[in-house]
Amino acid sequence: MSTTVTALIAPSAGAGFERSTIERRDVGEHDVAIDIKFAGICHSDIHQAREEWGTAIFPMVPGHEIAGIVTEVGSAVTKHKVGDRVGIGCMVNSCGECENCLAGEEQFCLKGNVQTYNAREYSGEETYGGYSKSIVARENFVLSIPEGIELDEAAPLLCAGITTYSPLKHWGAGPGKKVAIVGMGGLGHMAVKIAHALGAEVTVLSQSLSKEEDGKKFGADHYYATADGSAFKALRGTFDLIINTVSADIPVDAYLGTLKLNGSLVFVGAPEKPQSFASFSLIGARRSLAGSNIGGIRETQEMLDFCAEHHIGAEIETLDASDPSAIDKAYDRVVKSDVRYRFVIDAATI
Ligand SMILES: [Zn+2]
Ligand SMILES: [Zn+2]
Repeated sequence: MSTTVTALIAPSAGAGFERSTIERRDVGEHDVAIDIKFAGICHSDIHQAREEWGTAIFPMVPGHEIAGIVTEVGSAVTKHKVGDRVGIGCMVNSCGECENCLAGEEQFCLKGNVQTYNAREYSGEETYGGYSKSIVARENFVLSIPEGIELDEAAPLLCAGITTYSPLKHWGAGPGKKVAIVGMGGLGHMAVKIAHALGAEVTVLSQSLSKEEDGKKFGADHYYATADGSAFKALRGTFDLIINTVSADIPVDAYLGTLKLNGSLVFVGAPEKPQSFASFSLIGARRSLAGSNIGGIRETQEMLDFCAEHHIGAEIETLDASDPSAIDKAYDRVVKSDVRYRFVIDAATI
């Protein structure tokens, strides 16, 4: 028993997108059916559709930045009702019993959470993501999108928003704190907006000054180009926290040197190759090198409420997917950092 739904599929690794159909399960007692309105394009969609992160499941329907409207709820659902504005991020299930799940950190579920696409439910069925007309998901993994954010600019918050909000909160970004954001792409521009709204003094460290005007508009107080290396000398011992959003190699020691006593350099971008650093870069000022991965469901809701309260949405370019090759072209542009700042697929065109 299932429902046939139109979707944009990647038939095999790196092949062009095609319009096809997938099956969505019937709404179970704890499930919510959602009419998808918008789906963001995350860089990790590209890595997976091109099978750059290890063996992937094909055909694939990527998309873990989903915003839409509830059309049906199961008999035991209490959290959502028909007509609600909702979202789904990177996960659609977790064990719910392990230490990390019980702490609300389902992204670190010890059994392994179920990813929204390119994954399998614990029962073995493949999961398909947001590049489709509709989805059925467990109510506990469906977030409420408050009034005050449009659904299109809310969609990217479900991954890019929480990926930056969670470490900013965990490492205490706020008034009196100097926070640097490395990179001004999909993740970086959200990090700037959120860090500013949290009350921190925000500096962008980018390859060039080409996005300086935007960065300052999003709330950056300072903006430095890093390509020639002079910024690292000028900024020695400055920051309490650095969030690295880029997935290219970085000179880790140079960045560590810009941290003050007890400062932390946190990776949310994932460079393909191992990065190296000198121990003295940490020892010299009790610095930390750390990483962070999305956020739990409770914190994702907190982020959405925070963004609505502060009128923060993603800067988006809306994509018409009537011709599915529009997705392939958008992917190429994301790889070249040629988007300001997030593509969002208009699901009405799927
Ligand atoms: Zn993502
Ligand atoms: Zn768990």
